[in-house]
Amino acid sequence: MDIDSLARGVAEGDRRALARAITLVESGREDHRSQAVELLEALKREEREALRIGLSGTPGVGKSSFIEAFGLMLVAHGLRVAVLAVDPSSARSGGSILGDKTRMERLSRAPEAFIRPSPARTQLGGVARRTREAVALCEAAGFDVVLIETVGVGQSETAVAEMSDLFVLLLAPAGGDELQGVKRGIMEMADLILVNKADGDLKAAAVRTCADYAGALRLLRRRPEDPEDFPKALTVSALTGEGLDAAWDEMQALADWRRRHGHFAARRAAQDEAWFAAEVREGLLARLTRDPATCARMAEMTARVRAGEMTPEGAAADILADL
Ligand code: GDP
Repeated sequence: MDIDSLARGVAEGDRRALARAITLVESGREDHRSQAVELLEALKREEREALRIGLSGTPGVGKSSFIEAFGLMLVAHGLRVAVLAVDPSSARSGGSILGDKTRMERLSRAPEAFIRPSPARTQLGGVARRTREAVALCEAAGFDVVLIETVGVGQSETAVAEMSDLFVLLLAPAGGDELQGVKRGIMEMADLILVNKADGDLKAAAVRTCADYAGALRLLRRRPEDPEDFPKALTVSALTGEGLDAAWDEMQALADWRRRHGHFAARRAAQDEAWFAAEVREGLLARLTRDPATCARMAEMTARVRAGEMTPEGAAADILADL
């Protein structure tokens, strides 16, 4: 593959080139991996910066509807929008919670938008890694906003928060007066909570739910680097479009604040550092499991540990000493 011309295509914002580039970074083949690394290195020189927004919510809260309406609104503001997904379901079942294809039909037809279904197969760590690279590619392709979507289960939120500048939690109005079992850890990651479906019969419940979450957010530890009134809870309606502009204003306000105070770049630097360590760790592991001699030795040591002939510590020390 001609990496130079692919890089040029991506940098020119050509969506087909971008799609091919993402397929390349998602590939598990070793020769593809080195090309992917070359491509990412080449595109780093573009020095473009998108606003990376992580978006999480359980199935049914209206993520697709929200992204479609919000994405179209951004497009109407003259912005280019990319949508990526980290779907933890593909890891185990092969199925997809984020039922990709038919979603966001109008947004996917907009020439200013790019929607990429979540990569299938491999474990979550692998999916998250490749999605992070896809984010970098979208950024190099000149998109102004990259939305990274995930469902509210498992570890996918953490992975998405670690590749985003802002993290948004989407909720639906609660029936009763209980908070919807949102894990504290996820609440703590959120910069903005949006209670969707604030329209028609659901509006009053949405306003109540929003007030409940606003109260809950005030009880969480404050982030000294953010303005005092963040994290915030707002109501929106993907159906009527109400509140979407306000949500965008808040996202920009927070991003601008962080830029002005150096927290934006600091967060990215910390993320890059963590991803670098993860790459090395996973690369090492992959190398270990690919090497037949090491695999044979692992099998032998495993048997000896199981038989009680060696301690786990001793066996591990022997393996590591061999490297
Ligand atoms: P996802 O599973 O989180 O992607 O949710 P969807 O976008 O597929 O929406 C789930 C259901 O909620 C669908 O029936 C939508 O029509 C409905 N829905 C989504 N957004 C809104 C909204 O703002 N208001 C109302 N009333 N319904 C909505």
